Amino acid sequence: MYFPSWLSQLYRGLSRPIRRTTQPIWGSLYRNLVQSSQRRIPEFSSFVVRTNTCGELRSSHLGQEVTLCGWIQYRRQNTFLVLRDFDGLVQVIIPQDESAASVKKILCEAPVESVVQVSGTVISRPAGQENPKMPTGEIEIKVKTAELLNACKKLPFEIKDFVKKTEALRLQYRYLDLRSFQMQYNLRLRSQMVMKMREYLCNLHGFVDIETPTLFKRTPGGAKEFLVPSREPGKFYSLPQSPQQFKQLLMVGGLDRYFQVARCYRDEGSRPDRQPEFTQIDIEMSFVDQTGIQSLIEGLLQYAWPNDKDPVVIPFPTMTFAEALATYGTDKPDTRFGMKIIDISDMFRNTEIGFLQDALSKPHGTVKAICIPEGAKYLKRKDIESIRKFAADHLNQCSLLGKLRLECADLLETRGVVLRDPTLFSFLWVVDFPLFLPKEENPRELESAHHPFTAPHPSDIHLLYTEPKKARSQHYDLVLNGNEIGGGSIRIHNAELQHYILATLLKEDVKMLSHLLQALDYGAPPHGGIALGLDRLICLVTGSPSIRDVIAFPKSFRGHDLMSNTPDCVPPEELKPYHIRVSGPTDSKAERAH
Ligand code: ASP
Repeated sequence: MYFPSWLSQLYRGLSRPIRRTTQPIWGSLYRNLVQSSQRRIPEFSSFVVRTNTCGELRSSHLGQEVTLCGWIQYRRQNTFLVLRDFDGLVQVIIPQDESAASVKKILCEAPVESVVQVSGTVISRPAGQENPKMPTGEIEIKVKTAELLNACKKLPFEIKDFVKKTEALRLQYRYLDLRSFQMQYNLRLRSQMVMKMREYLCNLHGFVDIETPTLFKRTPGGAKEFLVPSREPGKFYSLPQSPQQFKQLLMVGGLDRYFQVARCYRDEGSRPDRQPEFTQIDIEMSFVDQTGIQSLIEGLLQYAWPNDKDPVVIPFPTMTFAEALATYGTDKPDTRFGMKIIDISDMFRNTEIGFLQDALSKPHGTVKAICIPEGAKYLKRKDIESIRKFAADHLNQCSLLGKLRLECADLLETRGVVLRDPTLFSFLWVVDFPLFLPKEENPRELESAHHPFTAPHPSDIHLLYTEPKKARSQHYDLVLNGNEIGGGSIRIHNAELQHYILATLLKEDVKMLSHLLQALDYGAPPHGGIALGLDRLICLVTGSPSIRDVIAFPKSFRGHDLMSNTPDCVPPEELKPYHIRVSGPTDSKAERAH
């Protein structure tokens, strides 16, 4: 696969000149930061022996003496080879004359994927032999000297994007998989978007990039956390599921605007498109309301968005949680297409059809429908059968209609109807979530819909003391093409209210959060924030099939690192300082290896 001059396009696209929207406060520090980030295409060959990258050379370089370093992509009939680096491919002519016998020997004998350094002249290809599919296709390199930097053994798979390989093999040899143009593109685009986000947040809007600890204590409620043993008997650290508490404490500390590219950890078992460790763009601000956070994020995404995609249109539409559930059957609707859920109960009030009568006679019983445009034309009898089976299999989930809508969209798309344009990015804010939901394992108890630090909706505070289940919150989610890519809230900054919610409504052990409750009592400013899921966002932007494709070294969906065989066993003597003994079965092979 060729990405036509993809790298410079990537950098040009992502490095628009900075529009200053605010007056810098600390003149020189800010001016220096802004100026240093105004560079356009980076210098890829500074500090190294090469003079140019392989993918960079064009007719404008004709006659230049160049030194290139790269991997041998392939060789043809001992007359030329194609050299590859991160920037692209270039054709190198193997000299045939006697005087260059040693150069010829190196270039003809080095196995494919060996690393070589060549020096020579950029010449034009003979007329008729140009390759218009290759960005460097008008030129080739007439080699004078060559050096084998490292030979390559037989590979487990060919380093060509079009060669199919299983994901397990790709993960086992990730360092080879990373050589593909697709992975190079994904990781570089990620890096550039993060760079633009930093620029927007820190240079344009005065945010401070602050690192917070990854060894912390357990947070009540929410996702399961990984435990890290300590040398004190029975005492453990926890890897934080997010820097939530720290970012709030930074607001109490007067930092005013915080951001971090934060690594987060959740021990949620194996889920196909989740990672036990993942990255968030984590943000917190003082003296802000919901609309302030929403405008900040809209501006941030618009600013960081790659130029080779259609520009992001702001402001994003907003939908309430109740409306999302009623019309799309989910709190993360894919608004790229219609097929909304319609309540048709009124049409059947006097029906004699038994099962509909039955449904309507139940409390809150409704009859709802999804209209599939031209369904009769596209869907076959077996499709209708599969829809019926899908509905039967998911009958007791209330999110059934939302799932059915997506299932029908999948079916229509397999019949060639384009419903979800892959080039379209449809953002949506979902707001007015309930503050609490019934606990899954015990529906009579409450759990936070977002997290326990979320403030109630100002007009629903009284409900906390009468009907807490009905209270709405100041929690907002950002949805992109049916995926939740961010979520946040305005926080509770009043210690008494926070204590009441934790202790009385959520029945949590407040001792675990005494530090936070205490901090709120010492003049905590009103504050709020959000976190964007960076992996999922980049996955959607690059159109990758899995979030693993935008992470350099991801875990398999079972949470394993297949390259290094992690997690791994630890010999009993190494566990002793932690006062831990393994009682379950262990992997004896792995143990023997220690
Ligand atoms: N800490 C939250 C999360 O990780 C985000 C937030 O409320 O800012 O989902």
